[in-house]
Amino acid sequence: MAVYKDEKSRLDTASIKTTTLFSFVVFALFLLAVLWGLAHFFIDTYYEKARTQEVIGTANVLETEFRQNPEGFSQFAIQTAGTSGIYIRLDTPDETFVYDGIAAVEETPTITDDIKSIQAKLQAAGPGSVTDVKRGTTQFDSRLLYASHISRGGDDNTLCIIAPLHPDPTTFRILRNMLFYISFIFLIVSTVLAYMLSRRITLPIENLTKSATELSQGNYNAHFDGSAFTETKELAKALNKASYEMEKTDFYQREIIANVSHDLKTPLTMIRSYAEKIMDISGDDPDKRNSDLNVIISETERLNRLVGDMLSVSNLQSNNLEMHMEVFDIVEAARDVYESFNVLSSSRGFEIEFHPCRSCYVYGDRTRIMQVMTNFADNAVKYSGDDKFIDIKLTRSGKKVAFHCIDHGVGIPSDEISHVWDKYYRTSANHERAIEGTGLGLAIVKGILNLHNAKFGVDSSEGKGSDFWFELDTVRKPSKKENKDNNGKES
Ligand code: ADP
Repeated sequence: MAVYKDEKSRLDTASIKTTTLFSFVVFALFLLAVLWGLAHFFIDTYYEKARTQEVIGTANVLETEFRQNPEGFSQFAIQTAGTSGIYIRLDTPDETFVYDGIAAVEETPTITDDIKSIQAKLQAAGPGSVTDVKRGTTQFDSRLLYASHISRGGDDNTLCIIAPLHPDPTTFRILRNMLFYISFIFLIVSTVLAYMLSRRITLPIENLTKSATELSQGNYNAHFDGSAFTETKELAKALNKASYEMEKTDFYQREIIANVSHDLKTPLTMIRSYAEKIMDISGDDPDKRNSDLNVIISETERLNRLVGDMLSVSNLQSNNLEMHMEVFDIVEAARDVYESFNVLSSSRGFEIEFHPCRSCYVYGDRTRIMQVMTNFADNAVKYSGDDKFIDIKLTRSGKKVAFHCIDHGVGIPSDEISHVWDKYYRTSANHERAIEGTGLGLAIVKGILNLHNAKFGVDSSEGKGSDFWFELDTVRKPSKKENKDNNGKES
């Protein structure tokens, strides 16, 4: 927690917040630079072009008006000169007319010179129209000159137009000021937006980090909230699941430590007591001694099994389980398992049935597959019902063979069925019965069957019994030579 606060208090240049903020501000500055650059370097060129188009358009309108409406032309020209801010001069064979819309700005001698210059250009060019640009000493005294011939009733008339090529300085200043204010507002708004956006993005991440820190301190109640974004929601979902799994594993691990210590302690106590008994009492009596030694041997076997299970789980976890693949007769393997159980269990009143299919071959690790069968049968013995009935069955369907181990015992509650394959899991019914076990057997079975790409499962109903099964592909019976070489699957 302390580390988290420390990191927050100073400016972290690598953080999403700073990076987003910085990127936004840089982008805003870039846009403003482009805007100001355009305004500064290209506005004059743009304005000149637009003004030229406009003046040529106005001239064309004036020419048409002069030809078609001689009486109303003067009125029209006065209006046009005023609204367009241009100087218009019309030379007819009899008279010269001037309509001045820029007199306040321009000096008359300049106008006279301009008229002379454009008229000379028009004379030189012949029929049609000409344009010219006159540059003054400042930005505010450039002019566009236009001249054209207009013929009407056999007479040649000349139209000249002078148009200032710049907005007036006040408009220009107002525009500049406006641009400045707009830039300022734009910068502020984009900074605020960037800050808000970066907060919106980082808030869920900060919340997730807080919850993760809590989880790392062992608080499994820490809830991950992904807030508004799909990605963070997905991350939160995954973290909540991870937290749930961690809690579950932690719970099972605690439980297994308790169980394993108990399971280890019982045989160790027995071994010690029987060893002491042999030493003190039965050592000289061969029958009693042998019987006591048998107890010691069976307890050591129990210890061996427990340690072996733990080793297998650890090997499975680190993908270290060694497999010896071969083609073998699964019916024969199942029969071996059945026989070992039948011998063991007949003394305890079990009724074990064996229903094999006709002999068939599979490709796998015989010992491991027998370990799976033994585990199913062992559980059936442990969790069988009062009838002490167990059915070991093999069925064939197409190119598949299935092994079933069925009992009429306690069964598994439906909401716990999916968990029985988890390591250290023992069903709730189990706790009441205090049956010896580690909760590792089925986890090992699952690992082994997965390594064989086998389908497996359990059909069970509470109080009625269970059917644990797995299914393997059949392969053709190997020839004697192939048998030696450990050949592969049926094609
Ligand atoms: P354990 O050593 O506890 O038997 P397993 O991994 O073999 O461990 O089994 C996990 C749990 O699944 C058992 O604790 C038991 O609750 C349940 N289980 C396994 N086989 C059966 C069965 N045939 N009938 C009922 N419950 C079973």
